Amino acid sequence: MTPSHEEKLAAVQQQVRARPAGRRLTISKRHPGHSPHDLGYKSDCHPVSVEALGEILGIDTARKVAVVEGQVTLGQLCKATFAAGMLPPVVPEFETFTISGLINGLGIESSSHRYGVFPNTIEDIEVVLGSGDVVTASRDSHRDLFSTLPGSYGTLGVVTRATVRLVDALPFVRSRYRLFTELPAYCREFRTALDEHSFVEGLVLAPRCYALITSDFSDAANGLDRYEAMRHGNPWYYQHVRERAQTGGEDLVPSYQYMFRHQRSLMWLTGIIANLRGFIEKPAGRAYLDREAERKVRETGFRSSLPVELGERCMINQDMVVAVERLGEGIEYVEKNLKVYPLWNCPARIGDVDMVFAQNKRRDRRAVLAVDIGIYGEPRVKPYRNIDAMRALQTFVDLPAMWGVCYLTREELAEIYDLAAYERVKAAYHAADAFVPIERKIKFMPKTGKQGKIPAWRLVNLWYEWRANRTKAKDG
Ligand SMILES: Cc1cc2nc3c(=O)[nH]c(=O)nc-3n(C[C@H](O)[C@H](O)[C@H](O)COP(=O)(O)OP(=O)(O)OC[C@H]3O[C@@H](n4cnc5c(N)ncnc54)[C@H](O)[C@@H]3O)c2cc1C
Repeated sequence: MTPSHEEKLAAVQQQVRARPAGRRLTISKRHPGHSPHDLGYKSDCHPVSVEALGEILGIDTARKVAVVEGQVTLGQLCKATFAAGMLPPVVPEFETFTISGLINGLGIESSSHRYGVFPNTIEDIEVVLGSGDVVTASRDSHRDLFSTLPGSYGTLGVVTRATVRLVDALPFVRSRYRLFTELPAYCREFRTALDEHSFVEGLVLAPRCYALITSDFSDAANGLDRYEAMRHGNPWYYQHVRERAQTGGEDLVPSYQYMFRHQRSLMWLTGIIANLRGFIEKPAGRAYLDREAERKVRETGFRSSLPVELGERCMINQDMVVAVERLGEGIEYVEKNLKVYPLWNCPARIGDVDMVFAQNKRRDRRAVLAVDIGIYGEPRVKPYRNIDAMRALQTFVDLPAMWGVCYLTREELAEIYDLAAYERVKAAYHAADAFVPIERKIKFMPKTGKQGKIPAWRLVNLWYEWRANRTKAKDG
């Protein structure tokens, strides 16, 4: 018989209480996470298995909420709620992201100008503390814990259950694609679209080539093309945008597929890592890479076996969050200093979010409505020196995202984020000695060190490394 949630919760509490003196707690699960954080700390920690917590406990269509266990994936949740005509308001890119991973690690999407980041869509969170006690944190109860968990990367407690808000969804998402060659016009329209559309997203495809996609839920509309975003071999979403934006116009994407439209191509990283230009423009080549990418994500999350220092020298994986007024400035910064294409422009309501890790202490440029300029890819600027370039980037932005590598020091970070408030919550909820310090989660890069681009064949290496990783995961 399947154990009840209460029985699974009790099992987690028991494991937490069995922590040997002097050891810290870490969660263990079968499916790998997607954070690129270094997992070295896990080997000397006491593991707490959360594997069993994978059930949707209920969907209340009247209250528009779903009650889910922590390891439920976004794919699982979206399938179940969509069957009832609803979806979570913010659905980050991957079906394999988990609810607890997104609560602890944040998550934005093209609807985040309306609903904020993923944790803003959560009503309450059940947490097993370092003492083994259980609390349910919400805006009305244990509010300090509730607002500090997002962005704390598992350093405050073990998330076992959450109540996720839902919104009504229609069968399709109707998208309009527009291309701009002038940056000011693109930024102006991006801004206007935030007031008018449920989903807003921009892609900087090349110099002076800005695509704006504005979308809303829709019933089937006659005469509009239908784009199957998740079908293997089909153009990847950014390729589809590139093509559609040339001629303008609209189409329909089945709503579930819209939510995960960037999944097959890992935004555009699949193509960059494979580095097989002929392949990625052909259906058969794409279908092959789609299968590979799916397997890679399933088996290894997004983890690379390349040492972080080496990977960082040839690829950029950063989200730069700037106030929406600085979108043009931000794009120009990347075009001048990094030359990475495409760039993702995803809106996010950040400044009014009640969260320690979103409280920007750079008050003079406090971002209320912000844009995440997602920089994922190979820098084309010459010369590229990652430590200098990424330190400069993280100083330039309004909020540096911490799910990737941090090039600032802890002291510099404390000038941006309210780390003192975080430490107070840690002490109040028995987390100080029980969980690893945040420094062991966020990868801090030293201020100096070996930098400079590594040779061109690195991408081939990355590809082989990806394959080797796969074999290793299979063997293991
Ligand atoms: C290719 C790629 C694309 C991405 N795209 C987006 C995007 O579009 N939008 C966006 O916002 N983000 C994106 N991210 C970042 C992503 O949102 C985070 O990495 C997210 O946290 C991943 O969820 P996960 O389930 O894999 O969590 P994990 O990686 O497993 O965990 C994230 C953190 O939460 C902690 N944690 C996990 N489970 C628990 C638990 N039960 N209790 C306590 N702590 C726990 C972990 O220790 C870890 O520190 C992307 C990441 C990658 C690699």
